[in-house]
Amino acid sequence: MDYYSSHISKLIEELSRLPGIGPKSAGRLAFHILNMPKEQVAELANAITSAKENVKYCKECFTLTDDEICPICKSDRRDHKTIMVVENTRDLAAYEKTGQYHGVYHVLHGAISPMQGIGPNDIKLKELIMRLKDNVEEVIISTNSTLEGETTAAYISKLVKPMGIKVTKIASGVPVGGDLEYVDSVTLLKALQGRVDM
Ligand code: ZN
Repeated sequence: MDYYSSHISKLIEELSRLPGIGPKSAGRLAFHILNMPKEQVAELANAITSAKENVKYCKECFTLTDDEICPICKSDRRDHKTIMVVENTRDLAAYEKTGQYHGVYHVLHGAISPMQGIGPNDIKLKELIMRLKDNVEEVIISTNSTLEGETTAAYISKLVKPMGIKVTKIASGVPVGGDLEYVDSVTLLKALQGRVDM
């Protein structure tokens, strides 16, 4: 049964597909949007479409960027022999916010999860191994402290160590099950400085 106009129902339906948005929040958002000035709604719609159309993967580290190669990979002030492996671009941003990491990154876009049917080929792992051929000295694994993150870390370590490259993992201090994104900079920095050999 439709209580609302079909346009409103459609908007609520689309919004409720977003993570963390239940039907109630979707309804609140939909009515909020309807009350917004027309120009502001256009800006919002435009920002969504243009982000989707213009953002692409960096050809080296696979972070999301506007260019073929992201500013970090492009920079000659970064240490290209140290690669930090993270699960997503938000984790990269969290480390960048500390301003204290000077290496480069590799973004996996996920983690291995047998439960969810996500295997090594479903994340940017082959791409990482390809990069390691250019005299990389250290791979720092900064996957999340979840079961999936730990599984991924162990898998990467097993692949990379035989290549004669140092493999380290950020120290605990990052809460177990915690999303790196929500950890404050000081904690992240301590975890990075206290990284341990794998
Ligand atoms: Zn890059």
